[in-house]
Amino acid sequence: MGYYREIQCHQCGTLVGIKEVNITMPYRTEETAECPICGVTIFKHNSRGDFESEVISTENTLEPYKSKITK
Ligand SMILES: [Zn+2]
Repeated sequence: MGYYREIQCHQCGTLVGIKEVNITMPYRTEETAECPICGVTIFKHNSRGDFESEVISTENTLEPYKSKITK
């Protein structure tokens, strides 16, 4: 089971879930995860895999970003 964490984006306010995936590397390197809404780097951690980010909640997402994700 990989690492999992929920982070609120400091730029747009979206609640994002960070999941560690593809844990296949023999050693840890610094990996980052970006906010799926605004693209800013919200998480940095040493990992033997990659980090995948997914939107959990847009309840607190700021307006200019929120209107962008409305389909
Ligand atoms: Zn964001």
